[in-house]
Amino acid sequence: MTSPLRLMAVHAHPDDESSKGAATTAHYVNEGIDVMVVTCTGGERGDVLHAVAQAEVDALGLAEVRRREMAEAARILGVRHAWLGFEDSGYPEGDPRPPLPHGCFADLPLEVAARPLVALVRSFRPHVVTTYDENGGYPHPDHIRCHEVAMEAFTRAGDAGAYRGTGDPWQPAKLYYNMSFTRDRVMTFHEALIAAGMESPYADWLEDWDEGEEDRVTTRVRVDEYFAVRDEALRAHRTQVDPEGMWFAVPLDMQRDLWPTEDFHLAISHVPTEFPEDDLFAGLREASWES
Ligand SMILES: [Zn+2]
Repeated sequence: MTSPLRLMAVHAHPDDESSKGAATTAHYVNEGIDVMVVTCTGGERGDVLHAVAQAEVDALGLAEVRRREMAEAARILGVRHAWLGFEDSGYPEGDPRPPLPHGCFADLPLEVAARPLVALVRSFRPHVVTTYDENGGYPHPDHIRCHEVAMEAFTRAGDAGAYRGTGDPWQPAKLYYNMSFTRDRVMTFHEALIAAGMESPYADWLEDWDEGEEDRVTTRVRVDEYFAVRDEALRAHRTQVDPEGMWFAVPLDMQRDLWPTEDFHLAISHVPTEFPEDDLFAGLREASWES
């Protein structure tokens, strides 16, 4: 019996793991894959978007409430969870944008910010790593920084001379970007909601969307059985998510019929594979890869 395949999903804030690729993590947990979600920051500069949670925040502080929410979401998804322990950079608003808070995740030198992730890659030894694309999927400084540290850890953790003192080298085989929010998918849901006589929350969003956006999806993983688990995990982030809000606008039956996959872009692969893929572990199922 060989040791199981391992998946590491690297995210910026608590709640990102539940809105991007969550059904995929639950699907692989169910398949016996060892799945670890890594959260780079505590999310302590997030707003309390959902007023119901305000009393709890007043009593415990936002950082503690978000730690509890994250633990609950990890339990629902069935994943292991690790914090990198960095301070949320906040979303800079205004013109000109204010400088980043001193010492926050996006303000630190890359080698400092990447070091604990390199250590985790070397101890957990994932075969597959997922993160955001170079734009962060959404231009929050922590999301862009999350991409940078994941790239750094993926490309350097296998180099024995780099990041000395963080464990034995380990080279993961594949690196993916989450591609759940493609224009195609959002447009599909928008049109289906209108056709069904329902309200679509996506009109403004679609208006600003760059139509020329390149379709980078290489990999579609069928995970519709886990959409309900994904939604339950997302609702665990009570300070961030309105349980009746836009995240839940598209009925699950409609999602299962129209778009039963979560989608990814294979950014780096050290194993041969064929496109399109339907499995993040394509090319790794054979016993030849060192585990
Ligand atoms: Zn985030």
